[in-house]
Amino acid sequence: MRLINLSDNAGQIRVEFAGCNMRCPYCVHIKQPKTEYSIDDVLDLAKASSSKDVYLGGAEPTLQKDLLPLIEGLQAAGKSILLKSNGMKPEVLESALPFVKGFVIEIKAPLDDIPAIMELTGLSEERALNYISLLRESLEIAKQKWLRVWIRVIPEFINADTIPRIMPDIEDASEVMLYQFMSNPDFDLPFKGHETPTPGWEEIQKLGEMLLERVQRVMMVGDGGKMVLEK
Ligand code: SF4
Repeated sequence: MRLINLSDNAGQIRVEFAGCNMRCPYCVHIKQPKTEYSIDDVLDLAKASSSKDVYLGGAEPTLQKDLLPLIEGLQAAGKSILLKSNGMKPEVLESALPFVKGFVIEIKAPLDDIPAIMELTGLSEERALNYISLLRESLEIAKQKWLRVWIRVIPEFINADTIPRIMPDIEDASEVMLYQFMSNPDFDLPFKGHETPTPGWEEIQKLGEMLLERVQRVMMVGDGGKMVLEK
């Protein structure tokens, strides 16, 4: 398997896979250098580590043919697994369901805004429409366990007008994480002329309070640090 990162820090093993079925124009990960590892390389590191939590992310983990054997091996080793996905492979999430603690799934814009989804993912109209239906299926599967909906706040797409249109799809998520665009250079490339953290932290907090009407917990991450709102 090709990885862009394998690390063990602060009690969490991070396994970040290379390759994605989207071409988001602000994505750092699809341009990062890759290194080849075997399943045993990852399992050996995990078994030797005292870290219990494992985050499987990347780019897109569900494209990896070795993902399920890896998840089963990690679970057998007593690890607690969070699986991140863009939601395009619900059948993989369904197969992983018995073995993981939960899922992290990104929503990029209101799912009724096809031009926005096309611009944010690099998908054609036909593939964007297919993605939206697969994403909804993935969200329903993930809600059976524990689900963090991950929202990258790019102000042209995520704002006080669009958040209410996202609400129906995030209802029953365990938490929502709002991430201030460009606040971590490891995550984002400049996009839409934004080269510094945007929108302002006050706007992030305002959006967080709106979301708290529909979910139990909202985490906000950005240049204001990390803040949690709970019901
Ligand atoms: S932002 Fe996520 S979905 Fe988009 S290309 Fe990067 S890894 Fe894939």
